[in-house]
Amino acid sequence: MKTEIIAVGTELLLGQIANTNARFLSEKLAEKGINVYWHTVVGDNPARLAETFSIALTRADLIIFSGGLGPTMDDLTKETVAEVLNLALEKDEAWTEELERIFARLERVMTDNNYKQALIPRGARLLINDHGTAPGIWLEHGGKIVVLLPGPPRELMPMFTAQVLPLLPEKDGVILSRVLKITGLGESAMEERIADLVANQTNPTIAPLAKDVEVHLRLTAKAATRGQAQKLLDATEAKLLTRLGETVFARDEESMAGAVAGLLFKRNQTIAVAESCTGGLLAHMLTNVSGSSAYFMQGQVVYSNRSKTELLGVQPELIEKHGAVSEEVARKMAENLRRRSSCDFALAITGVAGPTGGTAEKPVGLVFIAIAKAEGISCRKFNFIGNRETIKERAVMAALNMLRLYLLDING
Ligand code: ATP
Ligand code: MG
Repeated sequence: MKTEIIAVGTELLLGQIANTNARFLSEKLAEKGINVYWHTVVGDNPARLAETFSIALTRADLIIFSGGLGPTMDDLTKETVAEVLNLALEKDEAWTEELERIFARLERVMTDNNYKQALIPRGARLLINDHGTAPGIWLEHGGKIVVLLPGPPRELMPMFTAQVLPLLPEKDGVILSRVLKITGLGESAMEERIADLVANQTNPTIAPLAKDVEVHLRLTAKAATRGQAQKLLDATEAKLLTRLGETVFARDEESMAGAVAGLLFKRNQTIAVAESCTGGLLAHMLTNVSGSSAYFMQGQVVYSNRSKTELLGVQPELIEKHGAVSEEVARKMAENLRRRSSCDFALAITGVAGPTGGTAEKPVGLVFIAIAKAEGISCRKFNFIGNRETIKERAVMAALNMLRLYLLDING
């Protein structure tokens, strides 16, 4: 089934927003084995919209629209589609009542514009919108399937997944992807370990992608059914894991902080953090994970020498002797924080984020990370490269990874 996705919106053409709806729809359709041949973007202009739709009707079997279903003047998708197909717009009684209920609850008066949202082309099927007032539309006409979805992603995504996907025919096979996330191993070192697999394997294919602070491997499998694709992915993942081991920290949407959170949660253990050069980024990452209050107890940004002394009790003499960026100070920060917070773990970071402030002895990118735990304190020295922001990100990633490896019982 040849598919065309038509995103409607002048904002898209002006570059004010990215066409993430097309990306989402394509990904989901690929999983179902449906071929998407065209992504088209057109502004909120009825003539050009009609022209675009007419072209799509000549070449695609499934045409999916995103956007332009709202109540305002510039929302014209439904009207234009009905006009091109020569279909009358008819009032959907159930949705009219639903709208009246919604407006009554909001204590707002419904205008003609709002009533317009309950009109659907004759013969069409209405798709319920659980997150807004514009319903979607499913239309079969002259051997073609035409689907209209609202623009806001939080309305479009659930509507498509729950109501459109199940109506689409199963095609020849499914395509499934999985991402493995790797850290602590450069891209070239990683390639060396898996070069033969990347070169020779065709199903799934393996594609490396270097990100700022991590490397991703995307596996893409094609099979007759979802289960078979899943099996192919599992087998290749297992092969990769024997080569890459603990450098693989997460899959798909999971983050490093999420992986660490999962481990802490499972062990019912808690953490506190003290940060100098990362300025709170570690605490931010740890608290980005929902449910973080179960393990994250406190974070201190101890940027100045004085704060390291006043808030953490690091002796001024120690700072004077070794400098704030030193193994001794990192260890002391972690040790004192663990005692003061009564947490199972305390992580401390001190370093030079740059671009100024580096010296020959303590260059930009030098970072010490210490973990205090029941068994004692361990500390590692890192030399990160990158700009200020990347160095902060790398430091946080390394700190979380140190804790992750410890929790996994790998070199604590
Ligand atoms: P509304 O009822 O909100 O007007 P609509 O169906 O008319 O919905 P649009 O007016 O086209 O949709 O877009 C509403 C918002 O949805 C946009 O401002 C944008 O934030 C988001 N949006 C629209 N199209 C896309 C797209 N292709 N990709 C990502 N986001 C989009
Ligand atoms: Mg709109």
